[in-house]
Amino acid sequence: MDVFGLLGNPVGHSLSPPMHEAAYEELGIEARYVTFEPEPDALPAALAGAEALGIAGLNVTIPFKRDVLDLVEPDDLAARIGAVNTVDFSGTPTGHNTDAEGIVRAFERHDVDLAGSAVVVGAGGAGRAAAFALADERMDVRIANRTVERAEELAGAVEGATAHPLDALPDLLADASVLVNATSVGMEEDVSPVPEAALHGGLAVLDAVYRPVETRLLREAGAAGATTVDGAWMLLYQGVAAFERWTGREAPVDAMNRALRSRL
Ligand code: NAP
Repeated sequence: MDVFGLLGNPVGHSLSPPMHEAAYEELGIEARYVTFEPEPDALPAALAGAEALGIAGLNVTIPFKRDVLDLVEPDDLAARIGAVNTVDFSGTPTGHNTDAEGIVRAFERHDVDLAGSAVVVGAGGAGRAAAFALADERMDVRIANRTVERAEELAGAVEGATAHPLDALPDLLADASVLVNATSVGMEEDVSPVPEAALHGGLAVLDAVYRPVETRLLREAGAAGATTVDGAWMLLYQGVAAFERWTGREAPVDAMNRALRSRL
């Protein structure tokens, strides 16, 4: 039996175990997906132990996504993003970032054409994944962040990207076709990081926040006629991409989606 898992701290409320186990059940794969919560200073030992025990694959979440980068062989995208969310232990442990693929596949699932200009709000882990993913799709990427220096640092690493303060959002969005909220704004309270008047029907809007599934940003974007993509789609497709990398099989996306959404 193969063992997969999630490394983070805390991981108690993670939706990854039911999502992956639904895939194993659907395809009749003998496998389990378990959560591990090492203390931060035990991370190198945890990874070495996982390899020694024959664990097949690990997802990685807060606070370990950056630190794992130095403990595995990252692929080019994970190295550029500076974060690993998926480790593959077949052969030398390799590190991947499926958050980026999750964003692209979530848009594709909604028939969004990734062309023209994209506005990424946020420059933390999700913002970095979004900026590199959309630039790799040849979009012109504009990064807006509360701390402008962080946006500038990210824009410096992403080909053709530009950095802006949050109050530039109305101007940035006027001719944009894609908007990603990669901040945590909207999670705790019913607030949006983007002024409602800046939203328009030419946009496809993805909110990385998935609790709640329908954020204020998505509500207002929908009312403005925009295509809306909730954060559960991103979460789903980062899991789908990890599953496919680990197993080499096409993921049963609908079964994984049902398992995920029934718990949100
Ligand atoms: P992070 O690295 O801590 O970055 C947080 C970002 O939010 C930063 O850009 C920060 O700006 C900004 N921010 C925080 N509070 C703000 C406020 N009050 N006003 C304006 N900006 C604010 O976090 P992360 O890992 O990128 O996660 C961001 C969000 O994405 C979270 O809600 C997380 O759950 C979600 N996420 C979803 C998925 C998915 O699969 N759906 C995957 C990953 C993350 P400063 O730089 O100025 O601090």
